[in-house]
Amino acid sequence: MLPATPERLPLAQLPTPLEPLDEFSRLLGGPRIWLKRDDLTGNLLTGNKVRKLEFIAADALSKGADLLLTCGGLQSNHCRATAFVAARLRMKCHLILRGRRPDTFDGNLLLDRLAGASISYHSPSEWQHLDRLFDAVVEDYLHQGFSPYTIPTGASNGVGLWGYISAAQELLQDFERCGFAPELVAVATGSGGTHLGLALGFAAMAPVVKVRGYAVCDSRGYFERKALDDLKHWQETYRIASTPAVTIDVVDRYIGQGYGLPQPEVLHIIEQLARTEGVLLDPVYTGKAFYGLVEQIRSGELAKLDNIVFVHTGGVFGVFPYRDSFYPSLA
Ligand SMILES: *Cc1c(COP(=O)(O)O)cnc(C)c1O
Repeated sequence: MLPATPERLPLAQLPTPLEPLDEFSRLLGGPRIWLKRDDLTGNLLTGNKVRKLEFIAADALSKGADLLLTCGGLQSNHCRATAFVAARLRMKCHLILRGRRPDTFDGNLLLDRLAGASISYHSPSEWQHLDRLFDAVVEDYLHQGFSPYTIPTGASNGVGLWGYISAAQELLQDFERCGFAPELVAVATGSGGTHLGLALGFAAMAPVVKVRGYAVCDSRGYFERKALDDLKHWQETYRIASTPAVTIDVVDRYIGQGYGLPQPEVLHIIEQLARTEGVLLDPVYTGKAFYGLVEQIRSGELAKLDNIVFVHTGGVFGVFPYRDSFYPSLA
């Protein structure tokens, strides 16, 4: 049903473990929750983006590129992963970041600099014309004799989609080994490619497994449109005649005040999981999504399920810039 997987570079530490959160599930009194530990895909490459970048970097090299160009927020995990992939491949890296250049460098941004990425900072109003920002940077590097390769926000496009189609394959092997199949796979969704890759993979290989994305920024309608765009790009790029029918199930009720603004309950659940299970979620993506999942279990909506797999998509370096939100009394 799925076409042959394209070439990839082995950048991620795979397969990642699948582990039950037994103590937390017992305290919650609901289904057994499992974590797919994609926070362990690498040390500096931690998280979900490296799975996508395995395919994107292979594509970039096959096209003769020597520079990776991408964009994101100041604390983008995707930008940090791209900066380290570029360093490992001895390519140059340029990041277009949304926000003012801060006085102190922290979290992912500090790591971007250590990895040697060039950075340009842009105000939200300049970001309204992101295409123009990309065009200007590309032109500049072409002028200098580089061959730049452009990666969209979050590496979510038809090429990056393969990262989580193959993660769905890996999960099916995990399920076989662990002797169960979950009714639901839950994931944080930001630029949409992780959710769509999983949804496409399971739709093609094991349609009984449903995938639900918990939005950390945009609305459900946005993700439905974005998924159609990325699917189209995937079909065109790999000349795929027909795709399995995928439903994009996105819950957008737990975004709170907006992207990068975690509710107090999110910070609380991060602390709780750290103490009960020795696992660290992040305030921007995984903490918020996990909070949404737990709320839906508490409300009874998912209470009848036996097994739920939550994909831990990483983000640990994003904890540090929130130090004062976790412990305001110490600030
Ligand atoms: C980018 C990111 C996500 C969201 O993945 P998308 O494919 O962009 O939807 C989730 N968790 C973390 C930690 C991320 O960095």
